[in-house]
Amino acid sequence: MTTGQRKITIAIDGYSSCGKSTLAQALAKRLQYLHIDSGAMYRAVTLYFIQNKVDIYNEEDVALALEKISIHLGFNDDVQVTWLNGVNVDLMIREPEINQFVSHVSTLSSVRKELVARQRKLGANKGLVMDGRDIGTVVFPEAELKLFLTADIEVRVERRWLELTNKGIETTREEVRDNLLRRDHIDSTRVDSPLRKANDATVIDTSYLTQKEQLQISFDLARSVISTPGLDY
Ligand code: C5P
Repeated sequence: MTTGQRKITIAIDGYSSCGKSTLAQALAKRLQYLHIDSGAMYRAVTLYFIQNKVDIYNEEDVALALEKISIHLGFNDDVQVTWLNGVNVDLMIREPEINQFVSHVSTLSSVRKELVARQRKLGANKGLVMDGRDIGTVVFPEAELKLFLTADIEVRVERRWLELTNKGIETTREEVRDNLLRRDHIDSTRVDSPLRKANDATVIDTSYLTQKEQLQISFDLARSVISTPGLDY
């Protein structure tokens, strides 16, 4: 599609395993926009903290560690590749151990402050789809289009379990359910930038929508915002 001259910022937030990243990636591809999966950055920081035994309850240790972390997002055929201090960590940041700790690390204000600043810099040019938990509320509150994804918990469990099993990671549905619910709880109740639907976000329940249908709904919404007269970019 030709998007004309107008480029917008699209924020996609929502609970874990609702299909945010898959949708964000497909939408960005269709619009010829950049896609950034902000969760990968929180995962990379978590990996560094685990590898370097950083005490997350010690503010000084956390601040020192953050100074030593360089996260580079590369793009391979438009698909994000995450580099942590020069190492491709794409597989490592999806491991169950990271799932277990990432939401705790994400409650730390110093981590959020640092990553939000980096995300704003990465998204300074419009023509961006960024997905996460606080993109429409904190990172880009001025985003022209905000989507908030939800899905039935059992559908999410099945999707995540299949994804992990296909990757050869052994786990049970119960473990997956516990992890998703725990992460949702921590993400929604943390003090600093909790997971919330922005007032101006459109909710999409992905439970019974195919990926193609989710893409079509989002693409139509984006197209209507992009072509709204009076918007000046
Ligand atoms: O999206 P993903 O599941 O990869 O994100 C991993 C974790 O990173 C989330 O459970 C959440 O705790 C944290 N996160 C966040 N803010 C974001 C993106 C992710 O707190 N913008």
